[in-house]
Amino acid sequence: MTATDFADKWLSHAETAVRAAARALGVDVSIVLAAACALVLAAGFAVRRRARARTRCRWKRGGFRHGTNLRHWICADCGVDAYTTTDRVPKECKRALRPVGL
Ligand SMILES: [Zn+2]
Repeated sequence: MTATDFADKWLSHAETAVRAAARALGVDVSIVLAAACALVLAAGFAVRRRARARTRCRWKRGGFRHGTNLRHWICADCGVDAYTTTDRVPKECKRALRPVGL
């Protein structure tokens, strides 16, 4: 049995189960499937947005720190300051270093 065969069989079982459940509840199968799709999409968006919020910052370039070669950056999303020795944006937001809940 190949992986595709297995997936096909599993999906047909799942579809049968969904149809049976829908019949038992007296609702249209298409409504159940649409709700399931919406749920999956919403979960996907939530996960992606959380991942983006954690890693992406809108860094605004500031000047050099007085007397050093440290480049000053300010995150426009969370307002934290960061310094780098290169001209590249900071790798991650310092917001992650703050205690959760603030
Ligand atoms: Zn940030």
